Amino acid sequence: RHARSKMPRYKGLENFDLLDKMGDGAFSNVYKGIDVRTGSKVAVKVVRKYELNASQRSNILKEVQIMRGTHHPSVVKLISFSESQEHYFLVLELMEGGELFHQIVKLTYFSENLARHVILQVAQGIRYLHEERGVVHRDIKPENLLFERIPIIPSNPPIERRPYDEEKEDEGEFIPGVGGGGIGRVKIADFGLSKVVWNEETMTPCGTVGYTAPEIVKDERYSKSVDMWALGCVLYTLLCGFPPFYDESINVLTEKVARGYYTFLSPWWDDISHSAKDLITHLLCVDPAQRYSIDEFLKHPWCTASPAPPPPPT
Ligand code: ADP
Ligand code: MG
Repeated sequence: RHARSKMPRYKGLENFDLLDKMGDGAFSNVYKGIDVRTGSKVAVKVVRKYELNASQRSNILKEVQIMRGTHHPSVVKLISFSESQEHYFLVLELMEGGELFHQIVKLTYFSENLARHVILQVAQGIRYLHEERGVVHRDIKPENLLFERIPIIPSNPPIERRPYDEEKEDEGEFIPGVGGGGIGRVKIADFGLSKVVWNEETMTPCGTVGYTAPEIVKDERYSKSVDMWALGCVLYTLLCGFPPFYDESINVLTEKVARGYYTFLSPWWDDISHSAKDLITHLLCVDPAQRYSIDEFLKHPWCTASPAPPPPPT
């Protein structure tokens, strides 16, 4: 209760008490909040309208529009939207466990089983967005992937002393999403850069097809592949604890990405399966036409390998 008094109060958000701050972005703060009418916990993304130009404002409205139409266990739900003179308020499903990013930092890396458990949930969300909503997210990264509740993950052995040890993996290294333990649900958040690329009903490109230039048609066909590249980057990062592309210099980094120059660096990748590496190779593939689609991803042996994670309770 003492924290409450320090929290900002906003005109136009009378039905919610804001508690702790959970995150911030360039133009927004995200708070944990309580709906005073029902007592239910939510997250509230407060966007400072006055700092936005006309196109940025319309982007927020697009974000809201897209979120209104999405209903999937791997996608953060928009509960309500309102605005005042100075702010937009996105009331969201509360993801108490915070960012996948923080868990990677904390754990240094994920075992293959744990990585599979996480990435399959993200992939199911992407499959839904791509195939059922015609939406490309365009900002898939560990900061925008959130845990529903605080995950309980036993720590990993240090990488230097990590001989491949099947037995250890079998010794109940983790039990996904059952009982009170495990890591539970992961969901996709932040639709700030997302875009509708396919008409939902006709599954054709948006706009009048007959008059659309070939580069646009091609563009729209390949636009989903940006999420697949990002998914590859997330999977790579989960398995070893550092991103596939990195450099102090932004110019060098840009060049590395443009060429698709990355390696499975020793010793960190020594014990990781060929199957996982094969999958990553098909995602971090410079030619978008060659890159795996979400359906190809989900059919890859690494994804279908047992132990199949039981679906976490929703
Ligand atoms: P931005 O567009 O500024 O990146 P996000 O929607 O990604 O805004 O929110 C910023 C951060 O706030 C996220 O990275 C996350 O840490 C936190 N956050 C966002 N939505 C939620 C939520 N529903 N539950 C809990 N934390 C959230
Ligand atoms: Mg974000």
